[in-house]
Amino acid sequence: MGCDEMEVNRCEGALVMGCIFDIKRFAIHDGPGIRTTVFLKGCPLQCLWCHNPESISPHREMLFTPERCIICGACENVCPTGAHRFEDNQHIYERERCVVCGRCADVCHARALEIVGRNVTVADVMSEVEQDIPFYETSDGGLTISGGEPLMQLKFTEALLRVAKQRGLHTCLDTSGYADWNAFERILPLVDLFLYDIKFINDDQHRKWTGVSNARILQNLRQLVNAGANVTLRCPIIPTINDSNEHFRDLAELINELNAPLKCELLPYHRMAVPKYKRLGREYPLADIEIPSNEIVHGWLEQLRAMGVDAVVG
Ligand code: SF4
Ligand code: SF4
Repeated sequence: MGCDEMEVNRCEGALVMGCIFDIKRFAIHDGPGIRTTVFLKGCPLQCLWCHNPESISPHREMLFTPERCIICGACENVCPTGAHRFEDNQHIYERERCVVCGRCADVCHARALEIVGRNVTVADVMSEVEQDIPFYETSDGGLTISGGEPLMQLKFTEALLRVAKQRGLHTCLDTSGYADWNAFERILPLVDLFLYDIKFINDDQHRKWTGVSNARILQNLRQLVNAGANVTLRCPIIPTINDSNEHFRDLAELINELNAPLKCELLPYHRMAVPKYKRLGREYPLADIEIPSNEIVHGWLEQLRAMGVDAVVG
């Protein structure tokens, strides 16, 4: 395998554009083997525990890290809207004035100001992904598309998957499941493994904690399984929110009803995203929730396994 830039550019869809916020190389938790994970911006859900808060908005955003600021004043000089000012040796950034033009981030050498979200072509992404092909070959890894919800940028996701398959890569799609079935139908032949998030089976609880109904999520899951897709469920478990016996029972019932060899990866709650909320100027909504111990997580696994679920920690 291998492909130079001209070869990629000749692939159908190589010049389709999308908005991404990160490309993570050497990922080992986003599907089998060593993977390159491309994170797309935009998500229709607003899970309160979201560990990628910068993924939710489909638009570019500013990350401000005041601890890095050396008070050089360069940002104030270039900002067209007066969003930066300095008082008593303090840098005050007024987010509501900012139009995210990026000029201040361009001149901030201390990286106290950074824009999250960049527009790229499929060929741009593939030129990074292809650097890791030797690692995929030795580990049975490949490309994972994540987010956000990748199906919010269907044209880009489809084109990226198509080019990746043309290059012979293994592909995973990490999805909330919240999309039209037509979108799944279009990408179905291009995805080797769906990493499919299930947060709640109870719809009232799903609406309360994610902002949307789970009806189409569960319907799409059933249709994917019926279509013979390879699916791994990914289930964030958040203490006091969905670590109840009822949720585990509902989850096991769903999996058993689907009657397919589905692995269920539990994603225990963590707080690694807290600094990102601060840098985006947002409150972290779950500040009081404690990280579960290994014993507690083991108990969750045992509970699900006792009900016939092939549960592992993801
Ligand atoms: S350019 Fe960066 S380091 Fe300089 S004052 Fe602005 S935020 Fe601080
Ligand atoms: S991104 Fe543009 S508008 Fe926003 S603070 Fe920086 S220079 Fe000002």
